[in-house]
Amino acid sequence: MGVRYMPLDEMDFHSRDWIPHSGWPIGQADLLPYYKKAEKIVQCGSFEYGGKISASDDKRPISWSDNSLTSKTFGFGSRHVFCQDLVQELTHNQSVSIYLYATAVELETDRNSRRIQRVRVSNLTGKTYWVEAEIFVLAMGGIETTRLLLASRGPEQSTSIGNEQDLVGRFLMDHPIALEAGILHPASSKVFAAAEFYDLRQVNGYPVMGHLALTREAMEQHHLLNTSIMLFPQPSSRQIRAVNAMKSLFESGRYKITRPEDWSGIAKHGLTAMAGLDYIALGVYLNKRYDQAIIPHLSRGGWTSQPRFYNRFKRFDLILMMEQDPDPSRRISLSPDLDALGMPGVDIHWSWGDRCMDTASRTLELLSGAVRKSGLGRVELPWRNGELQFKGHGACHPMGTTRMSWDPGQGVVNPDCRVHSVPNLYVASSSVFPTGGYANPTFTVLALSLRLADHIKGLLATQPVQGSRSLISEATNS
Ligand SMILES: Cc1cc2nc3c(=O)[nH]c(=O)nc-3n(C[C@H](O)[C@H](O)[C@H](O)COP(=O)(O)OP(=O)(O)OC[C@H]3O[C@@H](n4cnc5c(N)ncnc54)[C@H](O)[C@@H]3O)c2cc1C
Repeated sequence: MGVRYMPLDEMDFHSRDWIPHSGWPIGQADLLPYYKKAEKIVQCGSFEYGGKISASDDKRPISWSDNSLTSKTFGFGSRHVFCQDLVQELTHNQSVSIYLYATAVELETDRNSRRIQRVRVSNLTGKTYWVEAEIFVLAMGGIETTRLLLASRGPEQSTSIGNEQDLVGRFLMDHPIALEAGILHPASSKVFAAAEFYDLRQVNGYPVMGHLALTREAMEQHHLLNTSIMLFPQPSSRQIRAVNAMKSLFESGRYKITRPEDWSGIAKHGLTAMAGLDYIALGVYLNKRYDQAIIPHLSRGGWTSQPRFYNRFKRFDLILMMEQDPDPSRRISLSPDLDALGMPGVDIHWSWGDRCMDTASRTLELLSGAVRKSGLGRVELPWRNGELQFKGHGACHPMGTTRMSWDPGQGVVNPDCRVHSVPNLYVASSSVFPTGGYANPTFTVLALSLRLADHIKGLLATQPVQGSRSLISEATNS
């Protein structure tokens, strides 16, 4: 369905006393006009920024009998926007020059003005040149932006650019994801019918997907991080095992079987597959007739679009995607190894941490209580030796390593996304997020970038740049 989008919650911008270093120096209202512009660019439909459910969605979320859970929606937009449409637009824009095979490897600062004067660009053919400009914007992603700053010396040479407070690279955050976080066993098949809101489906021609989230009250009362829960329908364990056994049988058909123990494995798979032939037959039919995956796939959705879908599934698997607390000890630093262009690599020190583990466990317990109280069924949690055991990892959403702040002592960039100590260097990346919420980051990166573009347009209107073209020159040391 493409790229998943969601704005940050209003609460994500606030400082919360139970989450050290949380909050932004700007509010959701500052980003709102740019979120609206971003919606048009990525063509993801329109969000309801107060957290309400869109009135045009005829599917209703589950109503809970306690106040710990609420429902929200993710939007989706086609990847073609970034991979084709915008590329075409920029390629044909006369005022834009694009240089490919051009890796920025060093920023050079003027000692007196503290301004960036030029950036050294290199590639694997050995070619090196400098690009001069009046204003520089680093838009190289959460890790590489930080790496270039760390790898470039500031005017005093004693620290990296922007790193006077030793903050560049610190406060690395991701969105912790817990797969197999629990199973919701519905009280009856009616619960699947009542859960249509949580499928990935079309509303007014735009793909949307409902999810559960903690309410503000629950976060405040239990001191939790902002967290979402996705409901993902599955057949029974027997049926899943049968489909997997069938896949293994097909796979084994590609190899020559010689060892007797392999035959016994094949026989075991055959028996397991036969025990779930009812579901395999139905799955193959739905696959041919409705182009549905035999085992539903989170990124495809559409499970409610088949006739009598509520009879097909037995349970919901639960997937958590969470906010991570900003912690200076999670960080990106330079490694001693140099890459082929002579740039130091990065070491990444990242883990979930106690606060995320605590939020995951308590969120699941709150969900379990809410499901029971609402008569929807029961939640089975993966307890082992007194601890919840789930498959935890990150979402590849690096954030926070050039965090935004009013106070130069507390962050790397100011609310205009300008590096505090450098008058002409800006950052357009999730690395400026001082708090990451649980929303996928690209929508907010885009809104911040549009806001930054307006800021720079304003600067250029008041102080026209001498010779507006950037200058490219052969490097003297190449
Ligand atoms: C598998 C996967 C799925 C994802 N799905 C989603 C999703 O559904 N929704 C969502 O919101 N986010 C998603 N993300 C995160 C999303 O990819 C990032 O938020 C987004 O790409 C950030 O955009 P960006 O322009 O800041 O950085 P990037 O997209 O990383 O772009 C940075 C660009 O800079 C270039 N670059 C880097 N270093 C240099 C250098 N030294 N010199 C010159 N150029 C350089 C890179 O080649 C790249 O083209 C996903 C990430 C992954 C890995």
